Amino acid sequence: MAERYNYLIIGGGIAGTTAAETIRSQDGAGSIALVEAEPHFLYSRVALPDFAAGNIPAEKLMLRRLADYESAKIDLYLGERIESLDLGAAEARTASGKIFIFNKVLLAGGGHPKFWPQEEGALSRVARLRTMQDAGRVRELMEKYREVEWVNPKLGIKEKRRGKVLVVGGGLNALDLIDIFYNAGFEVTVLLRKKRFWEEHLDERGSAMFADLWKSRGIEIFFDSEVKAISEALDSARVLTDKGDKIIADIVAVGVGLERNLELAKSCALMHGVGIRVNEFMETSRKNVWAAGDAVEYPDLYSGMDKLSGSWSESFMQGKVAGFNMALNDGEENKPACPAGRRVKFDTVFSYAVTHLKNHIALIGHAREDVGIEAVARVREMRGEYSRFFLKNGIMIGAILLNGQEYLGKVVRMIRERRDLSEHKSNLADPDFDLNKI
Ligand SMILES: Cc1cc2nc3c(=O)[nH]c(=O)nc-3n(C[C@H](O)[C@H](O)[C@H](O)COP(=O)(O)OP(=O)(O)OC[C@H]3O[C@@H](n4cnc5c(N)ncnc54)[C@H](O)[C@@H]3O)c2cc1C
Repeated sequence: MAERYNYLIIGGGIAGTTAAETIRSQDGAGSIALVEAEPHFLYSRVALPDFAAGNIPAEKLMLRRLADYESAKIDLYLGERIESLDLGAAEARTASGKIFIFNKVLLAGGGHPKFWPQEEGALSRVARLRTMQDAGRVRELMEKYREVEWVNPKLGIKEKRRGKVLVVGGGLNALDLIDIFYNAGFEVTVLLRKKRFWEEHLDERGSAMFADLWKSRGIEIFFDSEVKAISEALDSARVLTDKGDKIIADIVAVGVGLERNLELAKSCALMHGVGIRVNEFMETSRKNVWAAGDAVEYPDLYSGMDKLSGSWSESFMQGKVAGFNMALNDGEENKPACPAGRRVKFDTVFSYAVTHLKNHIALIGHAREDVGIEAVARVREMRGEYSRFFLKNGIMIGAILLNGQEYLGKVVRMIRERRDLSEHKSNLADPDFDLNKI
């Protein structure tokens, strides 16, 4: 039998959960269903590296308890995946056969790690990091291969060595994997497809600073290389690159990017580009359909360019905006309980800050090279500090800061204020200039 709801939320990550809670804060009576494929209440993906590393127990990841959903009168369907969505009939079906009829729907399905065909060659040694289950597996693999026994062929005796990890990829997820294994005492090798690190964000100097950071920790890097094949021998994984290099690893940690969960959106023609297309109100092109979080592509109000969502703060704020706008009274048709009001806009400046090998890295706004964008870098060698600012028509639209956390707030403000910084370009490049004076 079909269940009827005023609001159907597909995906119980930070975007979907925040949307459901925001709806409830605005609409005390409307019924809300939250459908989540994983068997867990909301947990922090941001804290997964700490859990994978064994620094925190599973309980510390959890951000909600059953009682939170109950008291907000949100009907939670855990371990249920929406498999089909029919917007004409306002009906969604789960893999287990449940049917939901809804007035309004939010797509907040996030993403999953990109499929990587090469891993088929060594499945028992591959680690990824997106879900709690992935993090649990990283812990298991670390336990198993932290110290490896091998037979020294020259002496013919058993010896012990440190476990070896090959990290494939160079995105933020890969940086987390490098940290986890390096800090646990593994010998780490990194394989990057590009000729240098983050070439779309950094100039050569910046890329070299990252390479130096890794080398100083004894991390070996293969640039401009791809994995051609992996085979699993009894005692290790054997990796062959397209350049003919052979790498032996106990664990292959894969961080090759995020694949957005777009099947439902595709089936409803909600796509445009690479994510679910939304406007600044998180509305899709269809009435009564919103989307939020990692699955969306939105108009970045500061750079004027389309941007794929990809951070916790974006997903949280988009969930809030979507939830608020969904709960607005838009006519008799849906009969929501809350009074009419004005739609709110998503206008958060993207920022993603991580600590990598004890160095602070922040990506803010549109921090990549593009047509019509000018980049200004400054290096404060003694402090291991590197910053690169991105300007469009003299206005700052993004920055990358290595060990420049003291300026994070200032940079976000400069982007929000849309001030013309044309006359400050030389100041931005000057390592002795205090940015707070702008
Ligand atoms: C290891 C790691 C570390 C990170 N660190 C940071 C950080 O330091 N800072 C930062 O800003 N961001 C970080 N992020 C990114 C951040 O966690 C994500 O941007 C954010 O969690 C996205 O939230 P979301 O709700 O859009 O998507 P998700 O968290 O992916 O949630 C979507 C949910 O929808 C469910 N779902 C999908 N399809 C269906 C369906 N058809 N039916 C039912 N359910 C479905 C999925 O199971 C999933 O739980 C990190 C991510 C990871 C993996």
